[in-house]
Amino acid sequence: MMRRIIIIGAGQAGRRCAEMIRELDAAAEIIVFGAEAHLPYDRPPLSKSVLLGQETQGSLFVRNAAFYAQQRITLHLAEAVTCFWPMEKRIETEKDRSFHYDVLVLATGAKARRLALPGSDDPRILTLRNLDDAMALKQRLALKPRLAVIGGGLIGLEVAASALQMGASVHVLEAGERLMARSVPTAISHRMAALHRRHGVMLHFNAQVSAIATSERELLLHTNTERLAADLVVVGIGGIAETSLAEAAGLAVADGVLTDASGRTSHPDIYAAGEVARFVQRFYGAAPLRQETWQIAQLQPLAVARAICGQEKAYDEVPWHWTDQFDWNVQILGTPTEQLHQIERQEGERLTLLALDDDGALRGAVLINNGRDATPCRRLIAGGKALDAAALTDNALPLRNFL
Ligand code: NAP
Repeated sequence: MMRRIIIIGAGQAGRRCAEMIRELDAAAEIIVFGAEAHLPYDRPPLSKSVLLGQETQGSLFVRNAAFYAQQRITLHLAEAVTCFWPMEKRIETEKDRSFHYDVLVLATGAKARRLALPGSDDPRILTLRNLDDAMALKQRLALKPRLAVIGGGLIGLEVAASALQMGASVHVLEAGERLMARSVPTAISHRMAALHRRHGVMLHFNAQVSAIATSERELLLHTNTERLAADLVVVGIGGIAETSLAEAAGLAVADGVLTDASGRTSHPDIYAAGEVARFVQRFYGAAPLRQETWQIAQLQPLAVARAICGQEKAYDEVPWHWTDQFDWNVQILGTPTEQLHQIERQEGERLTLLALDDDGALRGAVLINNGRDATPCRRLIAGGKALDAAALTDNALPLRNFL
């Protein structure tokens, strides 16, 4: 009998899951619900080429409406699912429509964390998560405002770089002591800071915003040490997993929907795809973990689709994400944490930082404008064999020699 598979979430993870299910099961009825009115799109361009006006609609959306029709993937856009009942195998939407399912996939993603301060509902204080956010921000940046970015993580720094290139004056206020502290070691944070300062971004560290006073003329940000006037504020202080539906339905939830490495939740007919899923990944150790990266939205849904279609192949990728800021492409593989032994291989502006554990195994790497090292690094991290640290310091020896 034909199965009906409902996917909640029409982002990258929902799209990938739907496409892969169709590839593996020609007969299944596939229905995708999305809260946004747009066709599924990938998010990395939102903080870069979309703001800079370099994006063509086609490349952002990946597939056009005709593709979904041809694949018999039914999209219900601008129709958020409001609840589901696992025992009845039924969902309900904001349009008061009810649908039965055989298999349910939660691809609800994450939302931007907001500042919990008085005044932070002012329309000049923005977050960047979806396409409408990006278009609204782009419009305001065109006025070349005095921009204050709260958060020196990936969103904050990508927006800072784009805004500066659009003619804004830019301050970044980071609560911690260094930039991108969650993804790179201090040596790279320092280089990122130098890059931003060189382009004219003003960086403030240990800057915790305690209040924002709003007037018609401007926004006045109060930190522990100073006051800063701005016309526009972008808040990039992390993401929160969108788990409210799962929680209300009684699934196991803890900073994400808890799953196995194929996306199975605590309920046999329900799976979680993409960054909402939290599961154990061998490259991060024994504790379950949730990732908010393009890679997880791109590849983990394939494991979910395979599990649904009885062709199990669990997710097991070396973690990888990248960021583009000014003329730097920075790629981060594995877990290049501060505690590991670091080796720098520099060649002019290009850099590969390798992070080795006590056994000499490569656990993580950061590449600055050095994408050619990505494949050997990925393979060395996956393989986990002990490497000759002294030989690795020799730039003349290509990394592929160590495979
Ligand atoms: P993020 O990467 O977690 O960075 C948030 C930064 O804001 C952290 O440095 C954090 O410092 C700081 N912060 C937190 N609260 C603050 C406060 N009250 N005042 C000042 N600074 C504060 O999160 P994000 O940049 O908002 O991005 C959201 C998610 O999307 C992340 O998971 C990110 O990885 C993902 N993303 C990925 C890419 C990419 O792969 N290129 C691009 C954009 C976004 P502490 O660490 O000290 O708390």
